[in-house]
Amino acid sequence: MNFLSTILLLLLACGAPVPPAPPAATSVAPAAPPISVDSIPAIPSYAYITGKFDPAEHPDFVPVADRYTDGDPYLLHRDTYAAFERMYAAADADGVKLVIVSATRNFARQKQIWEAKWRGERLLEGTEKADEVYPDPADRARAILRYSSMPGTSRHHWGTDIDLNALTNDYFEAGEGKKIYNWLTTHAADYGFCQPYTPKGDARPTGYEEEHWHWSYVPLAKQLTDYAATELRDDAISGFDGAQAAPQIQVVQNYVLGINTSCR
Ligand SMILES: [Zn+2]
Repeated sequence: MNFLSTILLLLLACGAPVPPAPPAATSVAPAAPPISVDSIPAIPSYAYITGKFDPAEHPDFVPVADRYTDGDPYLLHRDTYAAFERMYAAADADGVKLVIVSATRNFARQKQIWEAKWRGERLLEGTEKADEVYPDPADRARAILRYSSMPGTSRHHWGTDIDLNALTNDYFEAGEGKKIYNWLTTHAADYGFCQPYTPKGDARPTGYEEEHWHWSYVPLAKQLTDYAATELRDDAISGFDGAQAAPQIQVVQNYVLGINTSCR
């Protein structure tokens, strides 16, 4: 045994600490934590069209200024917002005041609304307790779908759609409301907006009832509608009470795609 071996044995016997390894010759920067697709989904993508993200965290979403709203906080995709600001200014110059009363609602928010109606905690059109009036799941879903979307299927997930001024058709049929609606039907298309839920009939045989208040920013929404047409599947709509009705009522074909052709 030579001198060096003896020293080494003595050190091991004494429990001497092993010296730290020298740094690697080529150090690699630590990997960034993975970005969840649920937090910042691309446009278009499945996570995006189904609203499974937080718009407040999405870099393409911006808050709507209070002067355009009923006072509640709203977010929109930046392209929709820029187009809305142009439309607002033109309407204002014509003496028409546009007020945003709803904008982006993600899956989690739509699930709250849907389940409150599904369980009868929130009445349909202020009168019907859905769980009692419609025991059959498909019937109950169709009743809620007169005016509310299933979570995962709402255009309000996309940051492209806004509700304006009032959430009743009556408001838009006389007086100030009629003036606003006439302005929108004449001019909204000039700013890229369409009304997806026009009266049901030959041109729009399925889907939600007419909504005078709901307007959609076509340049962005068209991409998302096209994506939904090929990628969104009834049997993948899940994660909330009543989701089992989605394939029964073919929610994608009849509701997501049941829109006015000027929005396609
Ligand atoms: Zn709406």
